[in-house]
Amino acid sequence: MSVLIVGSTALDSIKTPKAENPRLLGGSASHAAVAASFFAPVKLVGIVGDDFPKRYVQLYKERGIDLEGLQLAKGKTFHWSGEYEVNMNNRRTLETELGVFETFSPKLPVAYRDADYVLLANIAPSLQHHVLDQMQEPKFVVADTMDLWLNIALPDLIKLIRRVHGFVLNDSEARQLTQEDNLLNALKKIHKLGPEYVIIKKGEHGAILSTKKNGMFVSPAYPLQRVVDPTGAGDSFVGAMMGYLSKTRGPVDTNIRKAMVYGSVVASYCCEGFGLKITSRITRQAIEERFRRLQLLTKF
Ligand code: AMP
Repeated sequence: MSVLIVGSTALDSIKTPKAENPRLLGGSASHAAVAASFFAPVKLVGIVGDDFPKRYVQLYKERGIDLEGLQLAKGKTFHWSGEYEVNMNNRRTLETELGVFETFSPKLPVAYRDADYVLLANIAPSLQHHVLDQMQEPKFVVADTMDLWLNIALPDLIKLIRRVHGFVLNDSEARQLTQEDNLLNALKKIHKLGPEYVIIKKGEHGAILSTKKNGMFVSPAYPLQRVVDPTGAGDSFVGAMMGYLSKTRGPVDTNIRKAMVYGSVVASYCCEGFGLKITSRITRQAIEERFRRLQLLTKF
């Protein structure tokens, strides 16, 4: 079964203490779609401008991603630039140029509307709503977000959280959203807004899942000696998780823990190169190897 992914399709310029890489393929939907494509067919919804390099379209195609929902518009592709500090955990946005995103209205091709698994990757909550409005009756919808929307579109975001089965955010966003320092209290408060499943991402410290009916789960991050560029790790995590869930189809509650571990594995590859350089080249076999190593690392 395929997974529908909507989000940003971007050009990213990334600066780390060691290197600078302009105009890489990026965006929440790009990272999530490539990650999901190792597990299931992916339908991508996004927009790019006429400056979007053909080789990036080729990369989507090589991963078998369905591009009927990718709009090509006159103008510039969404461009984001960011800079990392030495420890690579702290990042600041240098510039965001919306370009064709400014007028983006995601229109779903008819063939996308009955998708069962939907990932609303990071994008303005109003656009995430707009996609959901066009869906028939998806089985499992997960939304991701970022601090920007907590700052400028909170009412919209809260309405969105009510409409989804799963909500994913990072630890600082969870604290900001709930005004709770303690993450267990934050999880409780987010459940009260609606979703059955809440996942808090904690970067190199893994992720916590809380379910309304079946307790909690802690998914480790795969330990890395060298992080080159963590941009898109969160999107890769949730993309791989949704790809695995749509592939396995069974009850979400049975599969979501294993899906998160696959998410951690693909996110680890994402961190090992700039943009999608490594993630786009790995194999399913490489994913399985790290999955097994994570299993061994956490068995006691
Ligand atoms: P992450 O590292 O998982 O937080 O995701 C980074 C990705 O988010 C980059 O590839 C950016 O292109 C994308 N991004 C940054 N700002 C925005 C925004 N305002 N809306 C949508 N996507 C964004």
